[in-house]
Amino acid sequence: MRHYVVTGGLGFIGSHLSELLLDAGHRVTIIDDRRTSVVDRIQGATIIEDDVVWADWPSDIDGIFHLAGPVGPVGVIEWSGKIVSQVVQAAERTATEARMNDCPLVYVSTSEVYGEQRQPVNEWAPRIISAGATARMEYAVAKLATETMLLNDLFLDVRIIRPFNVAGPRQSERGGFVLPRFVRQAKSGQAMTVYRPGTQRRAFTHVIEIASGIYEAMRRGRTKAVYNLGNPANEMTILDLALRVRNALGSDSDIEIIDPVSLHGNSFAEAPDKIPDIGLAQADLGFYPVMGVDAVIADLIAHEAGR
Ligand code: UDP
Repeated sequence: MRHYVVTGGLGFIGSHLSELLLDAGHRVTIIDDRRTSVVDRIQGATIIEDDVVWADWPSDIDGIFHLAGPVGPVGVIEWSGKIVSQVVQAAERTATEARMNDCPLVYVSTSEVYGEQRQPVNEWAPRIISAGATARMEYAVAKLATETMLLNDLFLDVRIIRPFNVAGPRQSERGGFVLPRFVRQAKSGQAMTVYRPGTQRRAFTHVIEIASGIYEAMRRGRTKAVYNLGNPANEMTILDLALRVRNALGSDSDIEIIDPVSLHGNSFAEAPDKIPDIGLAQADLGFYPVMGVDAVIADLIAHEAGR
């Protein structure tokens, strides 16, 4: 049994990861300020309700998973101008704790660091910084700065994860994520808001598979390695995704192609296509996601029905 700290352990990915660690027989301490939490508690985990930077951390830690942070294309907008300092400061504190405990740190970064790179991307692709200073850009730059800072720390055993689009039970609409929105819209017969042009491509992966990949990075990842996690076999357009959700629910909602700026204002920025190359995660972590998008959608709907 190991003692793991999960920052952001009450969030979407963190809550599934915490449960997975507990199921594997480990002790789990969650540090979470509940700002974007999706569960109140995790059965069996100790919860420290505080900001990662100011929290009173436990001392006997065998490994840290750092997931806490602002999240979602809409969710980050309200933190504009403060995203960089928040992301960097939380990571600095977390790295200090990892050094003090002489334990590995798995940092959950983002596929946003690839910017406008042509897809699919592997971990050696250059990062392309486009013009403009949107909240999404601030988020991407903050995460990239943090990755670089952690990788350059000679005294730190860090492994970095870049998740691509994740979906599944407990994902909140608050951050702006597409699947919970589509499910709600289709269920209530409202128009489904496909953001223009609708041909943008994503590859969705079930949250449980992403959580397992994150755990494997702790178990068998290499120090200073960066791993894409996602399921390239699930690549599809957002319009196709909307049709699948509508079909799964037997809904007769209309599909509307709309300009997201009309909903979220000028600060909203769309990301270009995002498709991972996961060869490295397959080789090092045995990461072979199998759930297709329809299975992810079905699980999401089943979970919503049971709430
Ligand atoms: N999207 C959409 N309608 C919505 C919300 C999102 O068409 O109501 C699109 C969004 O423009 C993006 C994709 O769905 O192309 C995935 O969006 P999400 O916010 O889940 O994640 P992103 O990959 O953009 O960070």
